[in-house]
Amino acid sequence: MAEPAIAITKLSRADLRVVPDRPIDMVAAERAAADLLRAFGLDLTDETLAGTPQRMVRGYAELLTPREFTLTTFPNDEHYDELVLARSIPFTSVCEHHMLPFTGTATVGYLPGDRILGLSKLARVVELFARRPQVQERLTTQVARWLDTHLRPKGVGVVVEAEHTCMTLRGVTAHGSTTITSALLGLVRDDGRTRAEFLGFSR
Ligand code: ZN
Repeated sequence: MAEPAIAITKLSRADLRVVPDRPIDMVAAERAAADLLRAFGLDLTDETLAGTPQRMVRGYAELLTPREFTLTTFPNDEHYDELVLARSIPFTSVCEHHMLPFTGTATVGYLPGDRILGLSKLARVVELFARRPQVQERLTTQVARWLDTHLRPKGVGVVVEAEHTCMTLRGVTAHGSTTITSALLGLVRDDGRTRAEFLGFSR
């Protein structure tokens, strides 16, 4: 497989925001979902459909709400100086252009500085940014930037591979096609050996 294209974009403060602007207004969302379903021709007085707006909103709310977590870091007492990497972290997100899900896996690695991270936290960081209306490029850079900011490692690498249902189920219906994005920072980007090692692990 060819080396994935590197997509690094400048992030604003807003991109690094962890907490959504405001909580989901479930009542307004259910009312709007009912309107939408009626506009699609569904008869919501039908017993089997009566609860659909609520189920629809609860489903989206779950996809759009990350679980809170505490970032646990530890001093790097052993001066470990090789890559720490979690591969094939599964995630589900929602494409902000179509509000249809996209699912895939992320490989997240970093080259430790003074601190190391509880291993499960790499998956939590992916979830944190996946559970919101997203585009894959932004998801990728947000995970990388967040780790860079909170862990101050010598380098960070993130590769995301995902299947977008807005692409596979509709439009061009490109079944089975996946999209790969990556964000490399610090020595994972600038040091040839580390970069090759990370990209080797990520495929
Ligand atoms: Zn889309």
